[in-house]
Amino acid sequence: MQPLLTELLNLPGMDVESYSNAGDHLILEIEAKTICSNCPRCGEESHAIHQNHWHMARDLSISDKSVSLRYNRRQFKCKNCGKPFSESLDFIGSRKHYTDRFAERVVKDLMHGDIYNVAKKYDVTDDLVASMLEYLSKKKEI
Ligand SMILES: [Zn+2]
Repeated sequence: MQPLLTELLNLPGMDVESYSNAGDHLILEIEAKTICSNCPRCGEESHAIHQNHWHMARDLSISDKSVSLRYNRRQFKCKNCGKPFSESLDFIGSRKHYTDRFAERVVKDLMHGDIYNVAKKYDVTDDLVASMLEYLSKKKEI
């Protein structure tokens, strides 16, 4: 565990386990602190980790270093339903390659600039910025 990086990361419920530094890019490996998750079908609490699924996501920069998170979305097996399910994580949507707060920051910048310049600033594609806008507007409707 990396207590200082965990504090800097400031994602409630997540721990930074390790990091690697590639020039101006920082990769933080993070995992949820909880040892259980609730089944989305029946609500039963499960402690049985079925599989680990590691994914990458862009996150907010730290001291001008761009940050990617290597995060584990663990799969649990519900003993009630007998089926595996993936834990839901507060900071990121399913199948997204960016955190909610990163998307919020990028989309907020769209108020002051056009899509081309915002994409350039965050080193992402125009399409990704457009998909963030769509993702956040859908999320707010729920
Ligand atoms: Zn269940």
